[in-house]
Amino acid sequence: MSTIEIQKVTKAFGDFVAVRDADLAVKAGEVVCLLGPSGCGKTTTLRMIAGLERITSGNVIIGGKNMNELPPEKRDIAMVFQFYALYPALTVGENIAMPLHYEKLSAADRDARVKKVADILHLQTVLDRLPGQVSEGEKQRIAVARAIVRDPNCFLFDEPLSRLDVELRHSMRGQIKQVLSNLSKATVIVTHDQLEALTMADRIAIMRDGLIEQVGTPHEVFAKPANVFVASFIGTPQMNLVEAELSSYANGKADIVVDGEKISIAVDPAVAKLNAGKVSVGIRPRAFNPVAKASRDTISAMAELIEPMGSETLIHARTKAGRDIRFVVPREKRVKIGETLHLMPDAAQTHVFNADGKAVRS
Ligand code: ATP
Repeated sequence: MSTIEIQKVTKAFGDFVAVRDADLAVKAGEVVCLLGPSGCGKTTTLRMIAGLERITSGNVIIGGKNMNELPPEKRDIAMVFQFYALYPALTVGENIAMPLHYEKLSAADRDARVKKVADILHLQTVLDRLPGQVSEGEKQRIAVARAIVRDPNCFLFDEPLSRLDVELRHSMRGQIKQVLSNLSKATVIVTHDQLEALTMADRIAIMRDGLIEQVGTPHEVFAKPANVFVASFIGTPQMNLVEAELSSYANGKADIVVDGEKISIAVDPAVAKLNAGKVSVGIRPRAFNPVAKASRDTISAMAELIEPMGSETLIHARTKAGRDIRFVVPREKRVKIGETLHLMPDAAQTHVFNADGKAVRS
């Protein structure tokens, strides 16, 4: 069975703990992306699963078997690295066939396996060329072909697309996702690119400072971030996060004080259980509706910078108290620099975080 599980996995380099108590279970056919800022421990986690890094404590279980003491070659994993070293003197076909040399296959069987993966990855026409004679996108596909040719138990990808240009990344994301969806293997992909994670993953594990902060579907981590870090890390443009003082809650609305001004906004009913005090309120830039008049339900801010983004426009505005607010309007809505807008937060998309930064949600 193709499954990957890590249980309370920790990695310390001397006194420095790079990964702490990481728990994650990847099912057969599931793609999980490890996503997080540079240095948060993504690659170390992947290397521990692969057996390239010894774990300090915890368990790595692949296909139901504990792998803690097994070297990488005994784990039946295929790994695709950021730097997909291809042998320059071997043809593309020979490069793809490399992992098969340890399996006792006839030349005909080997050629059939190479042909099959070349078909899947659209590499049929370049099999006789040398790696120096193919494009970057083709090199990336050759690296994937080399990984899947052996039918391993599961796949690990470390920043597989980071060397490609934007356009190629876009098309490769789709292609790799399609290939993986037909293979029914547990797959872990490391990336620091949230768009890559949102488009390729069935679930995303978001890491910070060696900790897994949240694991969820792309929709869950975007719509229901577990804490302030995930809320600010996921989503472009970034969520507005405002420190505020909760004063009261009644009938689905919270009275909060922001920069000395009391506003009333619709929030999750779980806020009723919160004591008055410090909170953070998160509102995504696309969750504001500009309305004609200021009221207790609106935040007023003056447009300072206007950034066209194609079909939408991103406005950077400033409240009277000097707080920056970002919001997005459709391109048709004309906004002038210096204009004051009254912004009504969308109730369904307003997030409240308690003083510890944890989401308050029912
Ligand atoms: P990036 O996106 O920049 O590759 P990452 O999230 O993959 O970052 P890791 O490479 O896992 O991060 O590193 C996590 C932390 O562990 C970093 O602070 C790194 O400097 C540290 N680290 C990694 N390998 C070692 C090592 N062999 N010895 C000491 N510290 C290490």
